[in-house]
Amino acid sequence: MKRLVVLGGGESGVGAAILGKVKGFDVFLSDMGTIAPRYRQVLDDHNIQWEEGTHTEARILAADEVVKSPGIPPTAPIVRRIVEKNIPIISEIEFAGRFTDAKMVCITGSNGKTTTTLLTYHILKEAGVNVGLAGNVGKSLAWQVAYDKHDVYVIELSSFQLENMYDFKANVAVLLNITPDHLDRYDYEMQNYVNAKFRILRNLTPEDAFIFWQDDPVIKAQLKNIKTEARLYPFAETSEDGATAYIDSQEELIFNTSETSMTMPRADLSLNGLHNLYNSMAAGLSACLLDVKKEDIRRALSDFEGVEHRLEYVATVNGVRYINDSKATNVNSCWYALESMPENTVLILGGKDKGNDYTEIEPLVLKKVKAIVCMGKDNSKLLEFFGGKVAQLSDTHSLQEAVDECARLAQEGDTVLLSPCCASFDLFKSYEDRGEQFKNAVKSMLNR
Ligand code: ADP
Repeated sequence: MKRLVVLGGGESGVGAAILGKVKGFDVFLSDMGTIAPRYRQVLDDHNIQWEEGTHTEARILAADEVVKSPGIPPTAPIVRRIVEKNIPIISEIEFAGRFTDAKMVCITGSNGKTTTTLLTYHILKEAGVNVGLAGNVGKSLAWQVAYDKHDVYVIELSSFQLENMYDFKANVAVLLNITPDHLDRYDYEMQNYVNAKFRILRNLTPEDAFIFWQDDPVIKAQLKNIKTEARLYPFAETSEDGATAYIDSQEELIFNTSETSMTMPRADLSLNGLHNLYNSMAAGLSACLLDVKKEDIRRALSDFEGVEHRLEYVATVNGVRYINDSKATNVNSCWYALESMPENTVLILGGKDKGNDYTEIEPLVLKKVKAIVCMGKDNSKLLEFFGGKVAQLSDTHSLQEAVDECARLAQEGDTVLLSPCCASFDLFKSYEDRGEQFKNAVKSMLNR
C-alpha cells in the first residue's frame, strides 16, 4: 500500500487525507500546531492516524509521497528533510486532480482572486452547471472529489498552492494581475514570485484557454519570455491589441472570442470600480468558454452581491457613506479602491506594514482624500509619508478611536473608506475581524 503523509491539518490537508484514504492509501497526517476539533473528528471517523504539536520524523520520512499544505513554507525544517530524502512533495490540488476529469477553471493573481472566483462560480451555478468551488475558498477540492463530485470546479489558487503543482492541468487558466506581494516567501526576488504565478500555465494544451489582463506590465513582460500552447484570451479596458473582452466607446462591455460574441452595458455590472470591471471580464470570459448562455452571463454579472470585506457598503450615517475594504492588505488593492471613490474621501490606513511603498497611491490620495486617519499600533511611517500632503492626518490606535475620528472629520456627502494597505495582525485577529469591528462600530452610530 502506498504511504501518503499529509503535512497540515486544515481544510486542504484534511481533505487530502480523506481522499487518500478513500483511494486506498496508507495515510498519516501531521500538524506542528493544533488541529481544530471538527477536523480531528473527521480524521477519526475515517480511521486516519494523525498527530499534532509535533512532526515525528521517522514516520514522515517513510512516506512515498507528501501532500504539503500551502501555509507551510519550503524552509520549514521538516520540509527540508523531506526534500533531502528525495520524497516527492505535492499540493492538495495536484493530488485531487489525479482523481477527477472534471473541467477546472483556475484563478490566480495578486489581487481579485476571491472576487473573481466567487463571481465565476455564481455565473455557472445560476446557469445550472454542476459546479464546485475550491482552493482558498469553500470546501477543499480533495474532499469534493472524494464525496461531492462536480462537472466543473472553480478554483482560487495562490502562488503558494501553485508551487507544488506538477502534472495538474487547468482547462481555463485565469491570471488577473501581478504586483509585489508575499516577497518575504520568495527571497525578496520578484521574478521568483512571477514564476510561481505563471505555473498556472503548466501543461496547458491547444484545447485549453489562458485568460489574462493584457495591460499588466509584469504579465506582458513575462509572456515575451515564455511559450504556451493554450488559446489566448486577453482582456483590457479598450479593444487595442486584440483584447477579447473590453469596453467600447458606447460604454458597452464586449466579449468577443472566436467562439462567441456578446455585449452588455457596463452600467449593468453589479460590481463597481475598474478592478471589478477586470474581474467581471475574467469571469465572463470563463463562462463564455464553458458555453454558458449569454442571457445567463448577463444576468449573473448584474445580480452578483459582492464579497464581504471587499469594497462592501456598510451604511450611511449622517449623510456619510461608510465602505469596508478591510481585505485591502496591500498598496495596490487600496489604489483600486481609491480609484473607484468620489472626491472628499476620509481614508483609514494602517496596520502591519509589509514593506509598503505608498508613492503608488499618492496621486490618488492628493486627488480624492480630504483626511487620512491612521489606525495602527505604530503609525510613524504613515505619518511621515503623508505629513503635509493631506489637509488632515490623524493618529489613532484602535478601531473605535478611528471611526470616531472619521465621524468627526466627514461631512454630509463624504465617504469614509477603510482600505488599510496593511495586514491586520497588530490590532486584530484577521482582516475579517477588522472588517467586522468596523461594520459594528459604524452600525452602532445608527442607533445613537
Ligand atoms: P484576493 O483573493 O486575490 O486577495 P480579493 O478578491 O479578496 O482578492 O480582493 C482583495 C482586495 O483587492 C480588495 O480590497 C479589492 O478591493 C482589491 N481588488 C479586487 N480585485 C482586484 C483587481 N483585479 N486588481 C486590483 N485590486 C483588486
